[in-house]
Amino acid sequence: AKAQGKNKCCLFDDSMREEVMKRACMEGYLRDALNQNELTVFFQPQFEIETGVLRGMEALLRWNSKQLGNVPPSQFIPIAEENRLIHQYGKWMLRHACRKNREWQNKGLPQIKIAVNISPRELEQDCFVEQVIAILRETGLEARYLELEITESLMINGDVKAIDKLEELKKAGVGIVLDDFGTGYSSLSYLNSLPIQILKIDKSFITNLQRKESDISLVKAIISLAHNLGLRVVAEGVENTGQVNILKECRCDFTQGFLYSPPVDEKMAEEILKNQ
Ligand code: C2E
Ligand code: CA
Ligand code: CA
Ligand code: CA
Repeated sequence: AKAQGKNKCCLFDDSMREEVMKRACMEGYLRDALNQNELTVFFQPQFEIETGVLRGMEALLRWNSKQLGNVPPSQFIPIAEENRLIHQYGKWMLRHACRKNREWQNKGLPQIKIAVNISPRELEQDCFVEQVIAILRETGLEARYLELEITESLMINGDVKAIDKLEELKKAGVGIVLDDFGTGYSSLSYLNSLPIQILKIDKSFITNLQRKESDISLVKAIISLAHNLGLRVVAEGVENTGQVNILKECRCDFTQGFLYSPPVDEKMAEEILKNQ
């Protein structure tokens, strides 16, 4: 369903120019995505590895563009970050996710965490903390049912203000997750100074678990270090039971991945909750 757009600005033969124009087009369409009701939220469940109990869902943004079809977040999030649309969309996402989780609780479904990805750009906003607190109040969701997933790039940039903000949110009861762990350049030493409770091992490590003996050692070391620091660990991108067995051996706490469920729409997510 891609490129069904008849819009003139998308038709170019020179491939370089085409790339540039495609991006410009996307940016234009992205601007209207919210008004056009093209944005939705999918949810991917996370389970406690030992018990199989559902512990939370990660909320993931989806864009079904009338002109471009389904555009993956890896393509449109960077554009949204560049032109600051991410502020608007991030806020929308946060509100949507919190409201949904509260709705599920109101229906008497199991109480779980909802995890929302936060771009470094969003954390730059002076009002970010107030915004999150306001959304929690507005939706009636208790802070402990919200988790914010941040990435290591925050540390590379050494954004002290951003760390203060996370500290404040943590004090308010919001969970902070370090996402994509192991993909950045920074050292392990900062793990101590970051106000996080959960470490999410990047899926590139999980993918290699069965093929590379050295990755097993690495994952084992990461998990035991995390535990020593009082953190809990999520493995993302878990696709088969072989990986689960290794992760159990490594004493990983939680898992998420296609083996259990891909990201699903809110109806399906509710079914998963009901089946708990
Ligand atoms: P992420 O936060 O690392 O999210 C995990 C990605 O891995 C998701 O891709 C998910 O669909 C995919 N995934 C889950 N299980 C498996 C598996 O078993 N195998 C494999 N190969 N992949 C799996 P998705 O939804 O395309 O999102 C890509 C990235 O876009 C996310 O990576 C996140 O960085 C960003 N993103 C998504 N939604 C938001 C949002 O609302 N705000 C921000 N700032 N970023 C978002
Ligand atoms: Ca994430
Ligand atoms: Ca991740
Ligand atoms: Ca990622």
